[in-house]
Amino acid sequence: MTFEIKPYPELWQSLDMDVERFDKARLMLGEAYEKTYLSQQNRPGAMAYFDNMIAEIHGGRIKELMAAKAEGRPVIGTFCVYIPEEIVLAAGGICVGLCGGSQGSVPDAEKTLPRNICPMVKSAFGFKAGRICPYFQAVDFVYGETTCDAKKKTWEILDKMVPTYVMEIPQCKNPRDIALWNEEVKAFKAKVEEVAGKTISESDLAWAIKTMNNKRRALQRLNSLRHHKPCPISGKDGLLIEQIAFYDEPIRFTEKVNELCDELEGRIKVGEAVPTKNATRVMIAGTPMALPNWKIHNLVEGAGAVIVNEESCIGTRYFKDLIDESVSTMNEMLAALTDRYKEIDCSCFTPNNERLNQVVKEFRDSQAHGVINYSLQFCHTYNIEEIRIREACEKEGIPYMFIESDYSPEDIGQLQTRIEAFLEQIRD
Ligand code: SF4
Ligand code: SF4
Repeated sequence: MTFEIKPYPELWQSLDMDVERFDKARLMLGEAYEKTYLSQQNRPGAMAYFDNMIAEIHGGRIKELMAAKAEGRPVIGTFCVYIPEEIVLAAGGICVGLCGGSQGSVPDAEKTLPRNICPMVKSAFGFKAGRICPYFQAVDFVYGETTCDAKKKTWEILDKMVPTYVMEIPQCKNPRDIALWNEEVKAFKAKVEEVAGKTISESDLAWAIKTMNNKRRALQRLNSLRHHKPCPISGKDGLLIEQIAFYDEPIRFTEKVNELCDELEGRIKVGEAVPTKNATRVMIAGTPMALPNWKIHNLVEGAGAVIVNEESCIGTRYFKDLIDESVSTMNEMLAALTDRYKEIDCSCFTPNNERLNQVVKEFRDSQAHGVINYSLQFCHTYNIEEIRIREACEKEGIPYMFIESDYSPEDIGQLQTRIEAFLEQIRD
């Protein structure tokens, strides 16, 4: 089987992209996908939908965004799980996560930004600077936040190329911080209404909250099935779905995740396992793995183990908390939104004790044998929080390993040796 990411040169041209360069990147991504994903044995049949989402990543989904724009519906680019997506959906708009998981766009960013900042920020910025991402070209504006220094200072530079709206995310969770966040949520609603040219009604927002909760419920369901022993699906496939969650249409995505879950339940009934019944089980914690960052999953699963959980923003941090659906006035719903988003335990908060408990809880729930805590290079908050995560795991007797890496292939040999030694140590 030969996999191809479909080319749409005319569409890319209309978006003022560097078509020649982007077409090369398309071929490379297609090859990497085929090697990483289609070489896996015994994949669930329902993964065909997600394979197609990758095949159409640079065309089919972009056409849907352009059709929405033609109807006056806003398309908003995001980088963080702190985006109150419900507000965008309620206004008829679309949120798309802007990829920041590729080494290919890093040199474009390094022409402007310092080299020693997080690769996710550089990668995302480079996609816009090099005009090599159709999503970046299609958005009405980019939503940025003040979660970390690298991002908040980059928004000032990015704003010269694409309108960038910044929400202030507090760094603590005291009542006055929550009040600030609630004000920010209200201001964001006003901004989205201005771009959409419509006022969000209470019923619009109630519908959007329910829609997003259903999406999170489907992802929670998938995650619990991955916790089953033996595991019915690979960690690579689990991660892929979590990555696609950031750019697919939410109602269709929810249906497809639930169809996959039905299939996985059938697999569990007959004891079907991926890759084998006795595979060593690993949980990942840490910084997000944006598309197409499959580096650690490739190494761990390439060594015969299976990843059963990602405690990450491209993972449980995105879907573990639901919004209260029992309230109905606009102010109550905005307060419920604020409440749900304050549960996100990103390392940008201090203190962040909730995350320590969450890592231990997810380790127990997922029946993993050990935790690999992963931080992107130069991410100060996750790198420093590593100390407390390690202490929490040691206290609970949880086998633990820390990896700091970027997107380059240079450390793959060294990481492979370290990962194989860790797997040997935690094997049943
Ligand atoms: S790790 Fe923090 S800053 Fe990064 S996406 Fe998650 S919540 Fe946002
Ligand atoms: S991984 Fe860390 S440094 Fe990179 S964008 Fe997220 S919070 Fe900022």
